Amino acid sequence: MKAFVLDATWDPRPDYQLSESEIRTRKANIGSSVWRHPRADFQDVETPQPGPADVIIKLRRVGFCGSDLHFFETDDEGYIRYPGLTRFPIVLGHELAGDVVAVGTRVTHIREGEPVTIEDMIRCGTCYPCRIDQPNHCEDLDEIGFSLNGGFAEYVRVPARNCWSIRMLRSRLANDAQLYDCGAMVEPFTVVYNALVHAAGGVRPGAFTVVHGAGPIGLASVAMLRACGAAKVIVFEVTEERRRLATMMGADSIHDPRVSSPEAVVMSETDGFGADLQIEAAGAFAHTLPSMERSASLKGTILVIGRDAAHVTIFPEPLQVKGARLVLAKGNAGHGTYPSVLRLIAAGRIDPRPMLTGKYPFQEIDVAISASRARGHGKILVDVA
Ligand SMILES: [Zn+2]
Ligand SMILES: [Zn+2]
Repeated sequence: MKAFVLDATWDPRPDYQLSESEIRTRKANIGSSVWRHPRADFQDVETPQPGPADVIIKLRRVGFCGSDLHFFETDDEGYIRYPGLTRFPIVLGHELAGDVVAVGTRVTHIREGEPVTIEDMIRCGTCYPCRIDQPNHCEDLDEIGFSLNGGFAEYVRVPARNCWSIRMLRSRLANDAQLYDCGAMVEPFTVVYNALVHAAGGVRPGAFTVVHGAGPIGLASVAMLRACGAAKVIVFEVTEERRRLATMMGADSIHDPRVSSPEAVVMSETDGFGADLQIEAAGAFAHTLPSMERSASLKGTILVIGRDAAHVTIFPEPLQVKGARLVLAKGNAGHGTYPSVLRLIAAGRIDPRPMLTGKYPFQEIDVAISASRARGHGKILVDVA
């Protein structure tokens, strides 16, 4: 089958200490310290067959994600920018939707013909975090599109337990094209759901809320906060196109943080109370955290979802006086997150569709990559079939 494959050279930085498991599995925990000179092209690879507990999915749509771009971007020494788990060569793509076309002998909950999306994080099930039900912190993780072959291909093999039917979305959508589009855009909402509901314990209806950054995670945050009953959602975003998308996702007030000081805006728009819940979805900690610290309300929550390999100084004293919380969250695995997000979409409480800003045929994946680099986009999808 045809697949879009990324390869890079295994060349650990001189100061990087490889673990025993990294040497054994060739799976780098910190990709940006190990992989150099990335290169990607279309290749003919073997069509996957299901193991006893697997399914094979015929791909329909695959989304581009910030992490996919970080595989291609390199630093001055040619190392990839993506700092997480990686094993190459690999078929990229972890935000996907398609139809199950084959199931393993032990698979019972899903059948051939089922339209599905996938939970991309595959927990080991036996490490300490897994055994205390913390799958997002698994110490021997595999991830579709990061350490196992992903969706920029005709078919992908996925453990059946990582598949979620998207059939229920049909009642809400006009046609199957929209079904697969939405299925491939579920992932950012699951990341937000995990952070907001599972890690932060939810948001009180009537809360004043703030989102920094209106990329896919920020846009999904806006929709999720609305669905949870926030009284106001204030957004800060530097690109004009994304500010427009934030309006479409339901933001109440949108500002360019380079033009208006976020803390001044928040204090004025909350009648001086400050924000009950603020989400960092910009991955720009040096800019956002000090401002969020100053605009937190009494008992306010600062929820960090964005990733940024930066050391920042925060001043905890005022937060302590207010009894505020700093919550840091990662991942989207487990905790019933996927079915909850799918129900919200099926019920019309959240709608991913306004987030879609570009769709490209599989053969034009290079164009999709360049478009994603422009950073003014919401979600870009590749139409695999
Ligand atoms: Zn992603
Ligand atoms: Zn584990």
